[in-house]
Amino acid sequence: MATTPATAVRDTELREHPRRDPSEGTEPADDFGGRLVPVTVTANELIAPNLRRLTLSSPEFRELELTGPDEFFGLLMPQQGHDFEPFDTAGRNIRAAVAEIDEAVRPGLRWYTVRHLRQDEGEIDVDVVMHDDHPGPGASWVSQVRPGATAGVWLCNAIWIRHAERPLFVADPSAVPALLTVLEFTDDHHTDDLSRYHVVVVAHSPDDLESGLAEDWSDRVASLQIIYTTPGMESEAVATHLREAAENGHPSAAVEYVWASGEVGMTKTVRGIAVDEWNVDTAFVDWVAYWIEGRPRP
Ligand SMILES: Cc1cc2nc3c(=O)[nH]c(=O)nc-3n(C[C@H](O)[C@H](O)[C@H](O)COP(=O)(O)OP(=O)(O)OC[C@H]3O[C@@H](n4cnc5c(N)ncnc54)[C@H](O)[C@@H]3O)c2cc1C
Repeated sequence: MATTPATAVRDTELREHPRRDPSEGTEPADDFGGRLVPVTVTANELIAPNLRRLTLSSPEFRELELTGPDEFFGLLMPQQGHDFEPFDTAGRNIRAAVAEIDEAVRPGLRWYTVRHLRQDEGEIDVDVVMHDDHPGPGASWVSQVRPGATAGVWLCNAIWIRHAERPLFVADPSAVPALLTVLEFTDDHHTDDLSRYHVVVVAHSPDDLESGLAEDWSDRVASLQIIYTTPGMESEAVATHLREAAENGHPSAAVEYVWASGEVGMTKTVRGIAVDEWNVDTAFVDWVAYWIEGRPRP
């Protein structure tokens, strides 16, 4: 399987938060980098029972350099029966620009991670979790979109940086694509760091995850734990796991940096334990609400 080539990330040291350079395109008026790229869907594959891999193509991706491995972007999805129509984003916040489009043709906007970039083919892959109970515009669109369909990609920037020697990563299935990009990037550029990484993944079943997570990485990182729990119990399951690790003196509870991404309640729980119970400096905790239980995440 093709992965993001080593050359596709512009600063491989990544000691500072990366930002997309505004001079590359439209001057951004918000925190989210900013450049709108019209794309064509070239593949939509079910890679696990609850996970779809979408391939998006644009000649602009031949020149694209990522700001970091877990670069995220806004996916602009046209309404059913419509093609994606590029719109004016100059100097604007992307959400405001979308809100000004006539409701009848307004595209949906949701946030995803570049799982792979293949500059030679001008393609990116994005892995999208299917959550069938309340799909929302993102999961609904991805579940049925076919090759040949058009969409927009609002390029943003990466989040993770190489903060510290001993990191802990906590991810749910929505953040496992980002986690895997970080592990693969580290393997490419800083292989020795991997042996100090602690990883905790919380999911409902293996159906939500790209295959090979445990098989490929368990022996390469300091520790990797996949916790399976029932829906709604993710925060409790992670909290129990982390507190037990601390009680048992496990090194995953003696870390300098914490990256927690996924459902907002779960990420807040991890942050609380890291800061209040383990005394990790708040500046060394990156927690990102990828989605919100019971609410849309536009
Ligand atoms: C920086 C960033 C990177 C992200 N990268 C990815 C990625 O690579 N792959 C990916 O799949 N997601 C990713 N996400 C999360 C994704 O944006 C959210 O899951 C988003 O809510 C999906 O939109 P939707 O239209 O399907 O559902 P929404 O309209 O936002 O929500 C509808 C309902 O579905 C529920 N819901 C939303 N997401 C999930 C979920 N994952 N599991 C269970 N229930 C859910 C909500 O609680 C709500 O009740 C990322 C988010 C951010 C901020």
